[in-house]
Amino acid sequence: MYSVAVVEDENLARKAIALSLREAGYTVHEASDALVCRALLNQTRLDVIVLDLGLPGIDGMSFAREIRGQSDIGLIIVTRRSDPEGRIAALDLGADDYLVKPIHYGELAARIRSVMRRSGRERGRHKILGPWVVDLKARTVSKGAEVANLTRGEFDILARLMQAGTKIVSRQELLSVISRSPLEADLRSVDVLVSRLRRKLNELDGDNLIATAPGFGYRLVAIPEEP
Ligand code: CA
Repeated sequence: MYSVAVVEDENLARKAIALSLREAGYTVHEASDALVCRALLNQTRLDVIVLDLGLPGIDGMSFAREIRGQSDIGLIIVTRRSDPEGRIAALDLGADDYLVKPIHYGELAARIRSVMRRSGRERGRHKILGPWVVDLKARTVSKGAEVANLTRGEFDILARLMQAGTKIVSRQELLSVISRSPLEADLRSVDVLVSRLRRKLNELDGDNLIATAPGFGYRLVAIPEEP
């Protein structure tokens, strides 16, 4: 579930926005000023910050700059200014989007979805497989700074196995994933790719991640987890 922080000092406005986003299915954290939001950023995982520019203490513009200096978290700015200069200023701050008060709640929820799509922060993009983080969109497999350099075929096989959870995927099915004209004779190439995949995932001491169903196919030992 996406986690959204709503930063707004006016209690009624903040609570109304928070309520509408909870109803839209988001986990919502409320912050009455930048300091509270800064603490949230340190304590919890946030996907998007909805930031009102008119804040007491640290003003929204400065805080937007601070956020952007530290992370690429989704940032939607809310302001009373509807003039082009206000819009340009918000986008110059690195905001992903910009809304003018009064906010239409349905529109805000739609903008959040759009930010998540554009930024590739979709739920389910990353999966944890043993010690590895698999990025299904960038098609990378990494462990800290270490990257497993998978070929296209190796990654496609891994992705297909992940899709199946821990169910067995037949060699024929894996072959159809890597080849447009699968032939019975090519089944061995699936075994070769899987053994290379295992080596690259450091499966040196047996079937830790990928198990063999002899004569039939392969499956993952454990279901990939959400990060
Ligand atoms: Ca305000």
